[in-house]
Amino acid sequence: MCIMNYSDIHDRIGSWYHHHGRHDLPWRKTNDPYIIYISEMMLQQTQVKRVLECFFFPFIERFPTLQSVKEATLDDVMHAWQGLGYYRRARYIHETAKIAAPSLPTDPNRLIKLPGIGKSTAHAIAAFSIKAPLPVLDANVKRILRRFFALENATDAHLWEKAYLLLDRNDPYGYNQAMMDIGATLCLPKSADCKKCPLAGGCHGKEDPLAYTAIKKEKKRAVKTTHYLLLRRNRKILMCKRSGPLLGGLWELPSLDHEPAGCKKLFEIMHDYTHFRRIALIYRCDRTDISLKDIEGEWIDMDDLDSIATSSLEKKIFSTLSESDSD
Ligand code: SF4
Repeated sequence: MCIMNYSDIHDRIGSWYHHHGRHDLPWRKTNDPYIIYISEMMLQQTQVKRVLECFFFPFIERFPTLQSVKEATLDDVMHAWQGLGYYRRARYIHETAKIAAPSLPTDPNRLIKLPGIGKSTAHAIAAFSIKAPLPVLDANVKRILRRFFALENATDAHLWEKAYLLLDRNDPYGYNQAMMDIGATLCLPKSADCKKCPLAGGCHGKEDPLAYTAIKKEKKRAVKTTHYLLLRRNRKILMCKRSGPLLGGLWELPSLDHEPAGCKKLFEIMHDYTHFRRIALIYRCDRTDISLKDIEGEWIDMDDLDSIATSSLEKKIFSTLSESDSD
């Protein structure tokens, strides 16, 4: 095997990024730490294509600065985040704005103290805004490092060590962007296009790249059943605001853990979250069926449902409801 030193590899990575990098991504056309931060938060759990097509531009238009997030209510931020899922991220952005506005710091030691900003995100913001010589270590980069150094059972600490070792300190911006792009286009979880890869000359895992892929343990998904109550008054519908870590701040129909007596079941919907599957059973209830004094809700006009933040499950419920209403 032809072993290259890292400066050769850095040259190749730089040249590859120049010719093949995704330079058009809007968050790569700025050094504004706030814009970079929002893109990093959105991309944590969502693919680039979806973020670009559906979420990034409307969010930035609605909240062009960290100060504008600070001045908004959490409801407004949640509404703009609607559809992206993992709503904890939207709450973190709001909390961060309350602490850091008018502007996001670029010092990684300060960034990492803000809610929801981990080491890799802090490094990404610092490397992409002020070219700080720090490595990014997202899932794609971890996979490249496992293969490049032929590591079968590497811990995160071990991968961070390797990330610092391979980093191009002369061009942390181009290097980190290139590594993220190589992980997204060449060194993929189920395949590796080593012939086109600028790391190939020094890659210890290229003979059998899939041997160095992180093994995901198959988790059995728990199933939860929830009974949702549809209570209408004229053109209004009773909705409750959730609290707690999962979907906190979003509006949903009132719900029970048990079947509501005397209510008519309309339909059921299955919805998957990261760690469990929810079976949602939807009932039409009269106010005589249910005691409303135990439900802390608000009557929301049906025409205003689009303007409040609801989860994907709620959207499925209302879409099924409007289909059945139009039958
Ligand atoms: S040479 Fe192949 S295995 Fe190694 S980093 Fe590149 S694509 Fe991945």
